[in-house]
Amino acid sequence: MRISLKYNILLAISIIGILSFYVEDRCDHQPMTDAFNDPMFDPVQIDSIFHFNPEFYTNGFDFPVGKPNAERYYLASKFGNRNHLGEDWNGVGGGNTDLGDPVYAVSNGVVTFTEDVCCGWGNVIRVIHKLENNQQYQYLESVYAHLDRIDVRPGQLIKRGDLIGTIGNAHGAYKAHLHLELRDFINMSLGPGYSDDHFGYLDPSQFIHANRP
Ligand SMILES: [Zn+2]
Repeated sequence: MRISLKYNILLAISIIGILSFYVEDRCDHQPMTDAFNDPMFDPVQIDSIFHFNPEFYTNGFDFPVGKPNAERYYLASKFGNRNHLGEDWNGVGGGNTDLGDPVYAVSNGVVTFTEDVCCGWGNVIRVIHKLENNQQYQYLESVYAHLDRIDVRPGQLIKRGDLIGTIGNAHGAYKAHLHLELRDFINMSLGPGYSDDHFGYLDPSQFIHANRP
């Protein structure tokens, strides 16, 4: 009786060990549920917020970790990798060594969404950015997912490099990493995180590299 109990405990520990080996530093093996959410701000409200706060138009983009150049972080999964609609940032220490590390706004903008979303997303922050190019205006949206902590609230105006939250693991769904999306079509649903349809999505690192301050 005592031997079989010991055997069962050993078996359970081995199974947990094997399972935790398969929890990755990226979202690959566990796509997120397509989560619909009502944007808290419609385009007219967003226009109005920026009209009265022109100092929050973008003035360049930085990386969201290892401020401002992603120093000591690497891309565990790039945009487009297995139809990944975002990119996964991980600390060079790997595993959960980056759990609780700061996450920064990639540019000036207004926070439009801060919620704990079910099924693979975890804590999510969405920020809308207004760009001005030769009197032409364009909106972009950045999405930060799996966060451990959210340090901003909807409606808050933020500057590039402001601390907005910390790296998390989506309630244990993965090893800690930041899932970052950059969109050129704002206020879409949160989506599935993976799709062969890239409409409305940009390669975040490619865009940031091309738009440094
Ligand atoms: Zn991801």
